[in-house]
Amino acid sequence: MAEHWKITPLRVGSFRLDGGAMFGVIPRFIWSHWISPDENNRILLSVRALLLERGDERVLVEAGYGDKWTERERAIYEMERRTVVDALAEVSTSPSDISLVIVTHLHFDHIGGLTRAPADRATDPSLTPDECRPTFPRARAVVQRREWDDALANRSIMARTYLPANLLPLRDQVQLVEGAAEILPGLSVQPLGGHTPGQQGVWIQTESGTVVFPGDLLPTRHHAHLSASLGYDMSSWETMQTKKAFLAQGRAEHWQVALDHDPDFPLTMVGADAKGRWTLEPLCASGGAPILRM
Ligand SMILES: [Zn+2]
Repeated sequence: MAEHWKITPLRVGSFRLDGGAMFGVIPRFIWSHWISPDENNRILLSVRALLLERGDERVLVEAGYGDKWTERERAIYEMERRTVVDALAEVSTSPSDISLVIVTHLHFDHIGGLTRAPADRATDPSLTPDECRPTFPRARAVVQRREWDDALANRSIMARTYLPANLLPLRDQVQLVEGAAEILPGLSVQPLGGHTPGQQGVWIQTESGTVVFPGDLLPTRHHAHLSASLGYDMSSWETMQTKKAFLAQGRAEHWQVALDHDPDFPLTMVGADAKGRWTLEPLCASGGAPILRM
């Protein structure tokens, strides 16, 4: 069908975040059985993007943290030295092939890869936004107007996530949308507030049904637990309400849910456990084995 996209999940990096910050009010006694922490209480998370292809069109959903990091920042997050450009090269796609990028929100681990510093300046703490250039010079970058405004004004509970070096070089590329919008046939966005007020999810029509990328509404499969909000959420209550509605609809409509930070599985389906609580189950082939682990 003409409106169907081919989807390739990309692993564009990995890093470690504090386990307590990733699971909010859930006690360590519980979450440490889901993902075991290192000696500094950090858990290993993947950073993922999606490549969408149809005919000559190449669309990227998310861009990872990129490479503009000092050695100290890299150590804090134990950032893997890998970027979206590396991941695209492995599937024979060059940055100039990408005509459209969609990001869920503008936190550093979602848009850092959209800009690059000169090679010898990437780790320099005195790097300025002027020195950075768009990684995908041909692409427009779709983001909610609310998110862009909040990011430029640095309205965040995190002091250093809406970084000028990630934002200012994109000024001429950004395409602002407000609320639900069809971006291309078979490809649309919808607000998913809570993590940030301007976060959006991405809905993609494929031959095997609807794939949804909910960003940090559901960063790992363990976040299907309604109480598992993030310390980074602007509103944990709104996250819970948004998540509840999302999972109910996802279950009813058999969405494939693509996870940005799950350490094991890029694609899941909404299920329920014996007590009727929502779960996110790895997408399995008919034989029962996960079709993709990365
Ligand atoms: Zn985020």
